[in-house]
Amino acid sequence: MNGVASLSAAHRVAVFGGTHGNELSGIALVGLWLRDGAEIRRRGLEVRPFMANPRAVQERARYIDTDLNRAFTPENLSFQGEDLPYEVKRAQEINQIFGPMGSPDAYDVIFDLHNTTSNMGCTLILESSNDHFNLQMVHYIKHAVAPVTCSVLLNDHPRLHYSTTRSVAKHPIGLEVGPQPQGVLRSNIFESMRLILKHALDFIEHFNGGVEFLPCTVEVYRVVERVDYPRDSNGNISAMVHPDLQDCDWEPLNPGDPMFQMFDGRTVQYKGDCTVYPTFINEAAYYEKQQAFVMTKKETLNANGIKVTKS
Ligand SMILES: [Zn+2]
Repeated sequence: MNGVASLSAAHRVAVFGGTHGNELSGIALVGLWLRDGAEIRRRGLEVRPFMANPRAVQERARYIDTDLNRAFTPENLSFQGEDLPYEVKRAQEINQIFGPMGSPDAYDVIFDLHNTTSNMGCTLILESSNDHFNLQMVHYIKHAVAPVTCSVLLNDHPRLHYSTTRSVAKHPIGLEVGPQPQGVLRSNIFESMRLILKHALDFIEHFNGGVEFLPCTVEVYRVVERVDYPRDSNGNISAMVHPDLQDCDWEPLNPGDPMFQMFDGRTVQYKGDCTVYPTFINEAAYYEKQQAFVMTKKETLNANGIKVTKS
């Protein structure tokens, strides 16, 4: 049974852009709001726009030394010394300003704005299936943007989960919008991201204002596996994403369907025993992570009803 849980108000919210310095929609939006925050102002809320990796933004590079969006491990956050990689130092600074991670002082919500080169459309990324505040928020956003689809990617896999910039907050949420090439700004992607964030902030304002959100269900795509490209004996890529799979993010991949096209023309088929839903297909940034796409399974989560605790 799903009841209605009382949760504390979410008064402190941050909007991060430029966690990756070549993903320009989030960078442009945060730059805009740093100059004039009227658009993201809401009653009873502190909404703080923040450029997460300013040096990478300046260089128009994903990162300087190491991926900031993998840097928020307990080890990194506790390292001491002068010689740390830039992003490790930056992770510590971010944890000081918006955290500490896991403490009562941490920000309530961090939205982290990302772009993908994959044909994923609007995607919200969750790190937990038990965060009913976030489940209610994504439910609200999905309905608000309909008939436009907003997919929800759930990454709480014990091995494939990674230490994101947003994980400093009590309720971390990623916005991933594409396709947009690295270093390129596309108006449709920029406006989609802006609209999702508007609805997200509206949701928090309603919640803080006493609106009760009833129990509901949310369809999510749960990360189950990362798939690498086929490689030769020297470790070099020997195939491309198959044309039947390219741009088909969130569409079912059934046993026997083509996955890769070898340089010699042969087809590599999906050999699994159940239908999966690939996403992040052919993401440019994931070549270095030896990842051609992510396999997900579709499932429906139950969200508890929520209302704000009367103080
Ligand atoms: Zn990114």
